[in-house]
Amino acid sequence: MTGQTGQIIRSHGRRFIVESEGQVYDCTTRGKRVDFACGDWVDILVQNKEQAVIERSQERRSLLYRQDDWKTKVIAANVTRILFVIAAVPSPNEELLGRCLIAAEAGDIDPVIVVNKADLPETASLLLKLDLYRRLGYQVVTLSAKQDVAPLLPLLQGQTSVFVGQSGMGKSTLTNALLPDANARIGDISTALDSGRHTTTHATLYHLNADSHLIDSPGLQEFGLKHLKAAELTRYFPEMRPLIGQCRFHNCSHRVEPNCAIMTACESGAIVKSRLSLLQRLTDELSPSKP
Ligand code: GDP
Ligand code: ZN
Repeated sequence: MTGQTGQIIRSHGRRFIVESEGQVYDCTTRGKRVDFACGDWVDILVQNKEQAVIERSQERRSLLYRQDDWKTKVIAANVTRILFVIAAVPSPNEELLGRCLIAAEAGDIDPVIVVNKADLPETASLLLKLDLYRRLGYQVVTLSAKQDVAPLLPLLQGQTSVFVGQSGMGKSTLTNALLPDANARIGDISTALDSGRHTTTHATLYHLNADSHLIDSPGLQEFGLKHLKAAELTRYFPEMRPLIGQCRFHNCSHRVEPNCAIMTACESGAIVKSRLSLLQRLTDELSPSKP
């Protein structure tokens, strides 16, 4: 058995595929440890031509969690770019966008808002709505996955990207346009994994070129935020960050307190109401419930 380093290119329940020195290995983990994710760099112990055991993961640049009813699961590691896909049809959910931007800020990952289905006339009014996010400093790129995905290419270059967004927005269409032969490339091992019983959470890392990678996790609508602390939320709102420390009470809930800098900014129009409401909802969600 030899030790070497590799990257998890597919996670599927408790099984992982690791790419290492030009080979792929079907890997298990030691004991019950399964907190590895697609994108993780890991030390493996090679057992034979096809199999290895994951010993440990190396330091992660970032971690993204899947939103789950009963617990928080890691979905991808070392992502550097989140592409939030939104379209005028079906009806877009702005809450989901707001929450995704928080996940990106908290993970120190660069988000881009991808407005898909630009061929639909309804797109114009969506773009007006999204102007708020442009003013907050977020990049917004408009395209039609069915016509041309070229506007995405410079945003993907040099990054490890992941698409997220409501179902029906065009994530699979975009992925297929970028990776037309992806299914053929991942090969037999993935077929073997797919036939396994753990089919709920899976993610695959594809190489777009030597420096650019795409982690595909079909059906990914939302990232988990449960690992965040309520008191730190304002850090993840770019328009609130300059006001940190300016509320009268250090543990201000920005809801009822006198001399709340955030509510004052909202009253003056400097902070948009819907963003304050998002902050308040997340604060409630993340605060330990009082007995
Ligand atoms: P997902 O659920 O986010 O993966 O969305 P899909 O990729 O399955 O796309 C949902 C629907 O939107 C499909 O019927 C696609 O054909 C359609 N769609 C995707 N991209 C475009 C586009 O650029 N323009 C239009 N008009 N429809 C699109
Ligand atoms: Zn306050």
